[in-house]
Amino acid sequence: MVEGAGGARPSITELAEEAHRIDRLRLDFARKLRLFIRDRGNEDFDGYDSPIEVLRECAHMSWHGANQIFTVAMHLDELPDAGAAVERGEIGFDHLAVICELKSSLRDPVAWERVCEAKLIADATERTVTQFRKHLDKLRHALDAQGFLEDQVHMAENRRLSLRRDSSGGLWLKGVLDPAGGAAVVSALEPLARRSGPDDDRPREKRLADALVELAEHGSGVTQLQVTATLETLRELPGVPAGELLNVPVSARTVERLSCDCTLTRVVLGSESVVIDVGRGRRIVSAPGRRALQARDQTCRWPGCSRPGYWCTPHHLVPWAKGGSTDLGNQVLVCSRHHWMLHEGGWQMVISGDGRLLLVPPPVPAYCRGPDLPEAA
Ligand SMILES: [Zn+2]
Ligand SMILES: [Zn+2]
Repeated sequence: MVEGAGGARPSITELAEEAHRIDRLRLDFARKLRLFIRDRGNEDFDGYDSPIEVLRECAHMSWHGANQIFTVAMHLDELPDAGAAVERGEIGFDHLAVICELKSSLRDPVAWERVCEAKLIADATERTVTQFRKHLDKLRHALDAQGFLEDQVHMAENRRLSLRRDSSGGLWLKGVLDPAGGAAVVSALEPLARRSGPDDDRPREKRLADALVELAEHGSGVTQLQVTATLETLRELPGVPAGELLNVPVSARTVERLSCDCTLTRVVLGSESVVIDVGRGRRIVSAPGRRALQARDQTCRWPGCSRPGYWCTPHHLVPWAKGGSTDLGNQVLVCSRHHWMLHEGGWQMVISGDGRLLLVPPPVPAYCRGPDLPEAA
């Protein structure tokens, strides 16, 4: 239980009333800002470039907060009923801001004439701010399809993604996508980011990051990766150097995992950095072999995982560098997550004497928890 500063725990009604008071203050603030803007020339803000900059510099507001209240200030006079609805507490200040943003976004000057303010207020009373924003986005397209399209195109042309390596080789991502591009990415990532079983306790952000890597490794079908390592590294001999993936050092286990992948180019170096093997997986696992594997396994073979086979990688039960064959009997399909667990995670899949597939946990379960039943079907 958390108590308010005054001591007594407030009721929901009291919280709602307090929020209403704050909304009325914000409304008053927007009216004052309107007067502040109106009584000055366009470029006279005491040395500041714009009213938004005044709010950011002098009122401690974020760009978003300043822009929102500025937009309301600019349109409040034309929306007297919506302002009155905020005063009465029928809609929130944020609802009003969404209406003002719609008005501000319309390029076609006659489009607003088709809007009924009373209908907008009624729509707002029935919806949360998020639902109302979505509702008005659709309305905006109905009112001004060309303006909507131009904005979407603008956003698509301003997609950005920056990739920055830190000193340990980790990659930091920062960027922004347009709504349609973002939706495509989300719809590609979301299915891969689902929990892979009842024991998958990865947090959502971790699952999304894993999904992004999985997509990069398998998603397009044309991803060209090259991993380079010495034979000693592949054999995990003590003291061997790291392998390399796109000039980034990677562990022997990672090289081993990547070497299972039939879409990857593997360059193995012998002594004095002489190339002794350039294995492209398609030669290791032929197309008919891959189809046979798909038909046999259908999904990831990790117990409880249902990731479809076409998202999976053929895993070599005995790795190539340790004498494993390329026979179907030495391969199983596993999803990216479980493939990682079989290499970097230290788990092992083995075939028992009577031909059953068994999971052997790592000696020290340091990385991740596996299924409760160690026996594969
Ligand atoms: Zn493997
Ligand atoms: Zn799996």
